Amino acid sequence: MLGLMQDRPLLISSLIEFAALYHGDVEVVSRTVEGPIHRYTYADAHQRSKQLAQVLISMGIESGDRVATLAWNGYRHLECYYGVSGMGAVLHTINPRLFPEQIAYIANHADDRIILTDLTFVPLLEAIADQLTNIEAIIILTDQAHMPETSLPNVHCYETLLDGQNGDFEWPSFDEKTASSLCYTSGTTGNPKGVLYSHRSTLLHSFSSTSQDVIGLCSRDTILPVVPMFHVNSWGIAYTAAMCGAKLVLPGMGMDGASLYELLDGEKVTVSAGVPTIWLMLLQYLSENDKKLPHMDRTVIGGSAAPVSMIETFENDYDVTVVHAWGMTEMSPLGTTGNMKPKMDNWSYEDRLAMKCKQGRAVYGVDMKITDDDGNELPRDGKAFGHLMVRGPWITTGYFKGEGGAMLDDGDWFDTGDVATLDPEGFMQITDRSKDVIKSGGEWISSIDLENIAVGHPGVAEAAVIGIAHPKWDERPLLIIVRGEDSTVEGAEILDFMKGKIASWWMPDDVTFVDEIPHTATGKIQKLRLREQFKDYTLPTA
Ligand code: AMP
Repeated sequence: MLGLMQDRPLLISSLIEFAALYHGDVEVVSRTVEGPIHRYTYADAHQRSKQLAQVLISMGIESGDRVATLAWNGYRHLECYYGVSGMGAVLHTINPRLFPEQIAYIANHADDRIILTDLTFVPLLEAIADQLTNIEAIIILTDQAHMPETSLPNVHCYETLLDGQNGDFEWPSFDEKTASSLCYTSGTTGNPKGVLYSHRSTLLHSFSSTSQDVIGLCSRDTILPVVPMFHVNSWGIAYTAAMCGAKLVLPGMGMDGASLYELLDGEKVTVSAGVPTIWLMLLQYLSENDKKLPHMDRTVIGGSAAPVSMIETFENDYDVTVVHAWGMTEMSPLGTTGNMKPKMDNWSYEDRLAMKCKQGRAVYGVDMKITDDDGNELPRDGKAFGHLMVRGPWITTGYFKGEGGAMLDDGDWFDTGDVATLDPEGFMQITDRSKDVIKSGGEWISSIDLENIAVGHPGVAEAAVIGIAHPKWDERPLLIIVRGEDSTVEGAEILDFMKGKIASWWMPDDVTFVDEIPHTATGKIQKLRLREQFKDYTLPTA
């Protein structure tokens, strides 16, 4: 027997519609790329999102078409979130930190028809314009006064297009399983792969985030997502904030300590979210300038492990609770959050801190287990470590266009690629990655890509790349080289050779030479042994 409840679809448009109706006077504050701080309300954001939907329809965009953005966290990007997905098209948020050729690849792979870009990325688009096969129009997210001189074809001014529409628009209703947005993730090998979210998965993820045991976002909060809107939908915050009517503060390009502090303090931000690198810069600014964070209640730290010193500094020196979180692009992204359980209030400081350093416990909706290489479940004893497997309604079933093949096992479990422990309290701790990607400032650097390029140098016999801990970027690549016979090649020559073949921030921070690189029985480089060998290595940039 089926229940007798309404089957109303969960649609992204309903979020901004709700925010406009019930929190219409709540502010959205943005640091613009043009310079000034911009402020308006959820009611304004709703009206302009509808105008954007009208613009897209007038340009021939239909349900399911991909519309891309290359943009920082700002109000116009927010309008793209609602305008594009709301009308039934798919918002493809491109990560501008990818290597230009990868950007061209993913824009073509996604069949993007339109790109909406911040002024910042116009030169980037100019450089790859002739490689973009499907783009019919480029809309620059600015007003007429700031329109640049550009060689780009079919360019439009965002504000001029919006001015041509009246916003008298009803959001369409459709199946909640319809694709809403697309985000590419770069793994260790090959091209980036697309994760395709749905309206349903996005709304369920947002409901979860408002829960007290997750981020606990509510209308009393002011949230500043430092995590970019081009990386997993800013951890869903652009949606969750509208769902609960929280004031939203969007930092634009201003990720440095001084710029962040100005907004955190001036806008009385109560909760924020970002990767450890960002918080290191902020903490340094606060200590050098003797500043405090009186309004801030909590901060969500994820993307890579939050260092213990960072947790202690936030909590002890600034009275800001750290919510350590773990997730991934394939999971929308939230999987775990490290909110303490009541019984832990009575634990010793050291025991509580040890729990805070773990990545947290599963949020409702995410099933989680660890397995050995044969798929057998391992005990939740905090000691055994294995492949971290997840499943749930906001976790991917497979990559866009079937890249990478079938992703799930019989029970729908998705292998995260992380290796972890689970303890009796349900807290998960990442112990290793089954892949050896290097995490630099919250972004991935593929060690294998770097190795492949380095071995292209005639003086190099073999190359291995491992991540070395770095005080600012978490990890930076160290290139380990075995010279070819009779070769006298030096590190600078190899780095010179690699320049232009990879994004500049992928360049290894140092090169070191060894006689031999350790191998497994099947001839694979033993990264674990290398990491052990270089565990005390200090990079010159550290
Ligand atoms: P991405 O899809 O780029 O967000 O990266 C997801 C990966 O980042 C995960 O599979 C983990 O390897 C890593 N990660 C995310 N959050 C954390 C965390 N709190 N601690 C350690 N690693 C993390």
